[in-house]
Order: sequence, then C-alpha cells, then structure tokens
Amino acid sequence: CGIVGYVGARPALSIVLDGLRRLEYRGYDSAGVAVIARRSADAASLLTEKHAGKLANLEKALGERAADGIEAGATGIGHTRWATHGGPTDRNAHPHVSADGRVAVIHNGIIENFAKLRAELESTGTEFASDTDTECAAHLLAAELASVTADGGTGPEALAEAMRRVCRRLEGAFTLLAVDTLTPDAVVGARRNSPLVVGRGEGEYFMASDVSAFIEHTRSAIELGQDQVVLITPGGVAITDFGGTPATGQDYHVDWDA
Ligand code: GLU
Repeated sequence: CGIVGYVGARPALSIVLDGLRRLEYRGYDSAGVAVIARRSADAASLLTEKHAGKLANLEKALGERAADGIEAGATGIGHTRWATHGGPTDRNAHPHVSADGRVAVIHNGIIENFAKLRAELESTGTEFASDTDTECAAHLLAAELASVTADGGTGPEALAEAMRRVCRRLEGAFTLLAVDTLTPDAVVGARRNSPLVVGRGEGEYFMASDVSAFIEHTRSAIELGQDQVVLITPGGVAITDFGGTPATGQDYHVDWDA
C-alpha cells in the first residue's frame, strides 16, 4: 500500500519510518522494513522486521533490537501493506526475503501470474515462507541476480539488470523496491500500473509510492513512467525500460506544502 526507500549517508531506518508515517493515511494492515547494515568495508547484512497491525507494533519490535546495527544502516526500504493475497499476518507482511537470504523485496499491487511462478519455483525446490503473491518476486530476483553475476555482472548495474529480468516475467500491477546484501549502497525499484516517485537529495536519494513520504527532505522529484526500472545509489539515479534501454521519468518540483 505504501512504499519508501532510501540510500545515502544518513541512517535509513528513521527516514523510512518517517516516510511510512506520512503514508499512514492510505490505510494498511501490516508494516515492515529492511535495512542493509555494513559490518565492514566488504561485509554487510540484511536486517528485517515486519509485523501485522499498526506501525507502533513495528516500532516497538525495532526498539527492542537497537544493538544489532539496524538503526545505523544507510540503505533501507519500508512498506505498509493492504493485504490482497494472504491474510494480514506477520509472515505475510513485507519485506519478503529470498530463500538464500540475499535480497528483500516490498511490493504494492497484485502480481496476477504469481500462482504459475510459485509453482515453477516450488518445483525446483524453493520453499515459500508466506501466502503472498509478492514472495515469488523475491525468489525470482535472487535467481536472476545469481545468473547475472554468473554472466559477469557486478555491482548496482547487476541488481538493476536482475530486476529488469524479473519484471519481464511479471503480469499485473506492481511497484517493487528491493535491496541486495551484496550491493549495500543501492535500492532498485520498478513499476507497472502502480506509482513510483524518486526524490533527489545531496548525496542521497529517496523512492516512494507518493512524494509526501519524502518532501521534508527534498522537493526535487522524478515520476517514473510505465514499465521502468530505477536504480538509486548515493551518486545518482539511473532509469531504464524493462529491456534495459535508458529512459527518463518526468522531472518536477513539489511546490505544495505538506
Ligand atoms: N499483493 C500484495 C500483498 O497482498 C501487496 C499488497 C499491497 O499493495 O499492500 O501482500
């Protein structure tokens, strides 16, 4: 229902939670976050927390794990869910993490062909941890990342390419955001029939389903077009279509008051 992403130098968790609070008016039944916490120059880990119920449930759980580094990570995504497939439970809340633990995905909308994708993944041994249509996107993204990497792809561009390959297999309506433990300074997003907006800051970038999530930080925005994939890193934003051809969104300045 509501989606927020951040990459930059500041702690992502509080920015993402603030963004989710600003999207609360949309109504939701669950909320969750994923943060990439750097352990050292070349090691990072994926920390997630997700709960049915109000944001207060999520915040309480987060408060109880302050020591694990989730508050310091500078890359993060957050979601408020309005359940369409699978009841409003903790396990069905987003983010959904791939079976290998590498990527976390959040999603607004409905993946119409999820049953077929799920059956295909299960037939090759993937175990599902939820009843959502969304989870298949997490497992597919991990599989595509492995294959892009095997073809020599590296860094944020490999993450974007893997997301494009996933999007080419999905039908329906989706705004997707994902983070990858092996690409700690990037968030990748995609959209079809569902909104996604990028916010440009100084050495930091935002993504959200609605600009109100980040206008306290920046009013320089880019509205993504249909069937586009967008990659944000602290150094910039790169947009392509689902085939990989460079594309542009609609630049605008938010001049209304929140
Ligand atoms: N279809 C997804 C689910 O049920 C996403 C719902 C939403 O847009 O919040 O989990």
